[in-house]
Amino acid sequence: MSTKYIFVTGGVTSSLGKGIICASLGRLLISRGLRVTVQKLDPYINVDPGTMNPYEHGEVYVTDDGAETDLDLGHYERFLDIKTSQENNVTTGRVYYDVITKERQGVYLGKTVQVIPHITDEIKSHVLSLGESENYDVVITEVGGTVGDIESLPYIEAMRQLRYDVGRKNTLSIHLTLVPYLSAAGELKTKPTQHSVKTLSESGMSPDILVCRSEYPLDNSIRKKIALFCNVEIEDVIASLDADSIYEVPLLMQDEGLDTRVIEKLNLPAKNADLTDWKEFVKRIKEPADEISIALVGKYVEHHDAYKSIVEALIHGGAMNNTRVNIKWVQSDFVTDENVEELLGSVSGILVAPGFGDRGIDGKLIAVKYARENEIPFFGICLGMQCAVVEFARNCAGLKNANSAEFDEKTAYAVIDFMADQKEISEKGGTMRLGRYECKLAEGTNSRKAYGKEIIFERHRHRLELNNSLREKLVESGLKVAGINPERNLVEIVEIESHPWFVGVQFHPELKSSVSTPHPLFVDFVKASLNQYNESETVKNDSKIGETV
Ligand code: GLN
Repeated sequence: MSTKYIFVTGGVTSSLGKGIICASLGRLLISRGLRVTVQKLDPYINVDPGTMNPYEHGEVYVTDDGAETDLDLGHYERFLDIKTSQENNVTTGRVYYDVITKERQGVYLGKTVQVIPHITDEIKSHVLSLGESENYDVVITEVGGTVGDIESLPYIEAMRQLRYDVGRKNTLSIHLTLVPYLSAAGELKTKPTQHSVKTLSESGMSPDILVCRSEYPLDNSIRKKIALFCNVEIEDVIASLDADSIYEVPLLMQDEGLDTRVIEKLNLPAKNADLTDWKEFVKRIKEPADEISIALVGKYVEHHDAYKSIVEALIHGGAMNNTRVNIKWVQSDFVTDENVEELLGSVSGILVAPGFGDRGIDGKLIAVKYARENEIPFFGICLGMQCAVVEFARNCAGLKNANSAEFDEKTAYAVIDFMADQKEISEKGGTMRLGRYECKLAEGTNSRKAYGKEIIFERHRHRLELNNSLREKLVESGLKVAGINPERNLVEIVEIESHPWFVGVQFHPELKSSVSTPHPLFVDFVKASLNQYNESETVKNDSKIGETV
């Protein structure tokens, strides 16, 4: 069977949840026995989002092959339980970069290089090569931005051409629109959808299926009206209602028949979907047996998308423990010795987040110290692990003013230092230690117990590491090296043996957690936090009994 290509565009407004719709459709098609991947085309000029501020663009999602990509790829991996790569995320910046590089190399043989055909050809080759790379049954391509934007035009044009290149029967156009509710009129309005479809059609692409985002159910008369004005059949008007959790969306899309319509139109061989495990997962998130609070200490906490994968991994870890994890967002700049008890005294676990730059570091160190001294489960991720090492060096290993070279190049004890191969690098884009590396776990550690095996592979995005010349001193003082990269002898995980659950990881475990395969460290961290919660409740109840007596 030749690969089928589904193009997903969005209209009227951004933030309609295109990424989640693509991921949900992908999940449904996989559950029906098809081989599927999802790709994101981003219309901005940055070559990748790696150099963008998290306030601008949210989290940078890193793939196994070390690509710094859009956070929607995280949704694809979490929903589909697949591995994505650089080919799953293409930006206008990368497309132009490649075309201009080829022009300089003389590849275009003296031709005038133009948007059509050179830029559109480059876009199409990215879509097709992904399909061919693993011989997928279906590639879902999400076009970022909104139809009508100047930036999106070359993408829509490339999609239009592709429909003819691979044959119309092998492609499908899905368009997402908004059906707003006007409370003054007391009704749902279809005009924005009509206009959005009109704009898309002006570029020569008409939708085969419309996914209509709405706060209220679409009744038959609204569906009929949309179908009539937008040139689709009534069964191709799919309602996408607001959901309590993004994980409900595949189930809602299945109820609306999105996968069935796609399968019929593309003539795909498909079995019935078995979503029993997915439903069980959703049930556990909606009606968990327990509920705990975990603090997420970071410097971008006003913008939750900056920690997207961590939030989702906590949900997955929570579901495995049948527990709802309420995140207490703690701005690291505000944590002081005076208020730490007030800020962190009521949580059952403390997670110190990744990050760059020295803002908020003192607050992170105070949070680490509080977790260590009060035996509260602690999870440090990347910069969070580095802070744990600095705090331990200063307060447990007697290394006065120890620091990370990122914050103080002249520190007497650079317990965290630039990796040797990072010292000479001045260019920013794509130059960190990125992607998948091996880690060997030590016997008898919490990490080894959680993973249940010795060799693991995790994803990285950092420039600094634990300084091996000070490792011995830290170990002598009670810091346990729980994981190393055997090839370069880099410390990947630290633990404190005398603490119930204190784990700092140099890598980003959150990037590998999915609904079907929740990350073992997140599962174990939530479990330890739940134990902590139950113990503190017992203490509270005991003291209450004491009072009444
Ligand atoms: N800034 C630190 C480094 O480059 C940590 C990076 C991170 O948290 N991702 O090593």
